[in-house]
Amino acid sequence: MKVLKFGGTSVGSPQRMKDVCRLITADNQRKLVVLSAMSGTTNSLVEIAQYLYGGNKAGADDVINRLRAKYYAHVPDLLSRKENQDDVQKFLEDKFSYLQSFSKDNFTEKEEKIILAQGELISTYMVTCYLKEQGVKATLLPALDFMKTDADAEPDMNFITEHAAKALESVPDMQIFITQGFICRNAQNDIDNLQRGGSDYTASILGAAIKADEIQIWTDIDGMHNNDPRVVDNTQPVRHLHFEEAAELAYFGAKILHPTCIQPAKAANIPVRLLNTMEPNAPGTLIDNHSEPGRIAAVAAKENITAIKIKSSRMLLAHGFLKKIFEVFESYRTSIDMICTSEVGVSMSVDNTKHLEDIVAELKKYGTVTVDKDMCIICVVGDMVWENLGFESRALDALADIPVRMISYGGSNYNISFLVKGTDKKAALQHLSNVLFNNK
Ligand code: ADP
Ligand code: ASP
Ligand code: MG
Repeated sequence: MKVLKFGGTSVGSPQRMKDVCRLITADNQRKLVVLSAMSGTTNSLVEIAQYLYGGNKAGADDVINRLRAKYYAHVPDLLSRKENQDDVQKFLEDKFSYLQSFSKDNFTEKEEKIILAQGELISTYMVTCYLKEQGVKATLLPALDFMKTDADAEPDMNFITEHAAKALESVPDMQIFITQGFICRNAQNDIDNLQRGGSDYTASILGAAIKADEIQIWTDIDGMHNNDPRVVDNTQPVRHLHFEEAAELAYFGAKILHPTCIQPAKAANIPVRLLNTMEPNAPGTLIDNHSEPGRIAAVAAKENITAIKIKSSRMLLAHGFLKKIFEVFESYRTSIDMICTSEVGVSMSVDNTKHLEDIVAELKKYGTVTVDKDMCIICVVGDMVWENLGFESRALDALADIPVRMISYGGSNYNISFLVKGTDKKAALQHLSNVLFNNK
């Protein structure tokens, strides 16, 4: 069986939902289909929670009312039979009164997580109802019955494997199984989620759990592009990527895929295919464990990075210096993205600046500290085994006119990263595109 995930854009209107249903029933194969909330919905739910945190119930109600009106209008566009319209209308009424019932008093993360879960609960109910109306043997499997995270907020693969199998077996003779992306229960059995964009992760975890033949991520673009299509002209889809290449690209900003999504598929060696809902026959991008020798595949960028440099004469020949530095970051649960060292100093980059002041204060015990904010990691991804010649100089050539703060290479066989100013991001991506992919 294949696992197919459709993102918010793919289920963003009644027409899009119908298109998805046509697509998943075009052959007679059984499928497990993971859906996101309709596009924009999770943002609205976040907004509602923010109003309630801020004690502004009227603000929250305003967003709820707008969302309610939007959803009610979708009902007659999606369903033709009166009884089905009534069924979904009733479901929506219950959901929106539930949203309205949250109080601004004692509003905690627990309530926020429940609110955030409603988008996927609604979209999957609507799509399942439409499929049934069309006479498809479809059923809704509640993700909250089997998607579970452990005390470290990591997927509990044993639980998921056992309970997803049970859920599938509980409804034999079905062709289409629909479930919610993004949402789960945590170790306390409370409603939780896999972080924004986490429906991709759901699909990959479920693909691994049910040993799927393939995990398909369907979105609004023809596969992973060799550069960010939102920023750079003339990007092209990359037809094939190694798991590691895709993981680097996702982590460093290629938003088409959630960064956590590759790991479960890779561990279970299940190919991932990125496909386009608007152009279902386009080849998309296949991600598996084969690499293409000597090829530079793509470029991605991650913004809002902070660089921290510690210069210390005491570092000279000192062992244990890096350990002390890393312990500071560890104690503030802040992970480091890039790191470069010299005999007198070390530079690191972080994207989480929640504890920056405390970290800098502690690092000052070990030397002079400088901080550069609003930086951007530019990551060039491909087969970059060190014996391969020339790719470093081509990438550096492309960046000849751009000040580079750090360069990192050798950490993996698949990437070389540059730290530049955030304001140079667009130029850096465009120059790399021109030199690496468009022979300009
Ligand atoms: P969905 O709602 O389907 O999950 P997203 O908005 O999360 O869709 O992600 C898809 C978007 O990611 C695309 O519309 C595209 O603009 C953007 N994107 C960013 N970088 C890349 C890339 N390297 N290749 C393809 N798409 C990318
Ligand atoms: N709906 C969630 C979000 O917008 C999860 C997802 O779409 O992947 O973040
Ligand atoms: Mg997404």
